[in-house]
Amino acid sequence: MLDSEAMDQIKVAASQLASASSLAVITGAGISAESGIPTFRGEGGLWRKFRAEDLATPEAFRRDPNLVWEWYDWRRQICARALPNAAHEALALLESRMPSFLLITQNVDGLHQRAGSKRILEIHGNIWKARCTACKTKFEISETPLPSLPVLCPDCGSLARPHIVWFGESYDESLIQEAVSFLRQCDVLLVIGTSGMVSMPGFLTEQAFRAQRIELNPEPSGITPLVQISIRAKAAEAMPLFWERLNAG
Ligand code: NAD
Ligand code: ZN
Repeated sequence: MLDSEAMDQIKVAASQLASASSLAVITGAGISAESGIPTFRGEGGLWRKFRAEDLATPEAFRRDPNLVWEWYDWRRQICARALPNAAHEALALLESRMPSFLLITQNVDGLHQRAGSKRILEIHGNIWKARCTACKTKFEISETPLPSLPVLCPDCGSLARPHIVWFGESYDESLIQEAVSFLRQCDVLLVIGTSGMVSMPGFLTEQAFRAQRIELNPEPSGITPLVQISIRAKAAEAMPLFWERLNAG
């Protein structure tokens, strides 16, 4: 059940979107929380049990590739069991309604695609993909648990790594450029379930300078000071109501 303040914010946000033609959405771990995928930093967040520095860095992979692969394979099993939730589904519906749409996600779980989203930039990579450390070939690995470790390149047999942007690594510049040029012209930006603890979502939000900027997060975040509207609710509860409201006219 949403409180009346959240309902009011949803109404305002829906009426802004109703007159917009271009929508950008940025998502973080919070949108998949109700699908049962742990977030990184919140309650039950992954980094409460594991040290990121031990697992999600190039150094960690050099030190012990199998340990890193095991950790990712454990996360892959969680993702494989998870289903897209009502928030992922509402975004796929929004995409089909908007003349111009782009989804920029930090999530690597693949749930947006499974819900039907098409125009999507995965700026942190994808947990179902790997790439060769030698020849850089990118390939899909859909089976989990992995049959053998470490994963090897199908082309040259060298060690492969998860296709994920790790701590200390740079973003794919072409993806960021594509995101920035869309954000600079969009009418509405919706930021869902990101803490803004890494700097990229804040930077991207600032690029949407002519947009109505709306955040959906049950907690205040690093994004809060950058938006005009904060809907304090869970994504899978609020997004269906937002969609309903939009269609109510
Ligand atoms: P986060 O865990 O930092 O923040 C999650 C946010 O979601 C919080 O603000 C929380 O209040 C909110 N939230 C929780 N439940 C929600 C719900 N039901 N509905 C809506 N919001 C909800 O996640 P983040 O912001 O995505 O973190 C930034 C990125 O850092 C991550 O996407 C991740 O890719 C990256 N990261 C990557 C690695 C790695 O393995 N390479 C390691 C650490 C962080
Ligand atoms: Zn190779």
